[in-house]
Amino acid sequence: MSAEVILASHNRGKLREFQQLLAEAPFRLTLWPGSDEIVEETGATYLENARLKAHFVARKTGCAALADDSGIEVDALQGLPGVHSARFVSSDAWENTREILLRLMSQPLSQRTARMRAVVCLAWPDGREVWAEGLLEGVVLGWPRGFGGFGVDPVFSVDGVHALAELSPEEKNQISHRARAVKELLRKLFESK
Ligand code: IMP
Repeated sequence: MSAEVILASHNRGKLREFQQLLAEAPFRLTLWPGSDEIVEETGATYLENARLKAHFVARKTGCAALADDSGIEVDALQGLPGVHSARFVSSDAWENTREILLRLMSQPLSQRTARMRAVVCLAWPDGREVWAEGLLEGVVLGWPRGFGGFGVDPVFSVDGVHALAELSPEEKNQISHRARAVKELLRKLFESK
């Protein structure tokens, strides 16, 4: 495996998380250097989008590339926004989070169950790939809390009280859907050697 893997994302929050999650991995993770959109996320599933991005960047750079697609699935909203989380009503993360809060306004905590899901895909220029999925179950709080993380972290809670945005990066990385997906990816990667 080459010493460098390109992360197919512009999201610095994600780069920081992945770098921590892959601190022990035998390669260095760098951000996709372009500033343009990598490739339009036209897939109907997280896996299709993660594959699209990883294979596109691997072909374009000649390096192994890692991509993820993730989202929040709210049960009372029939799984929305799901695969559309990053562009639910807008491309602005706070506007999307506020829309979830508004749609759940009349729901008690017991009806606000949700999960975060991440699919990660590592692809090589010759078309090989390994992928894995991770889940984190929780609830959507009634009001934002905390200043860490990104996206819906201020309203997503595992214990029903504290938001992910109140956890340190290390604490979030112990439990997150992305951490679980990466752990599974590394297991598959080194199992197949
Ligand atoms: P992606 O960049 O297409 O994977 O979209 C991710 C979207 O899902 C973000 O815009 C957030 O709304 C949500 N999301 C996924 N993972 C996380 C996370 O770890 N924290 C907060 N929000 C997340």
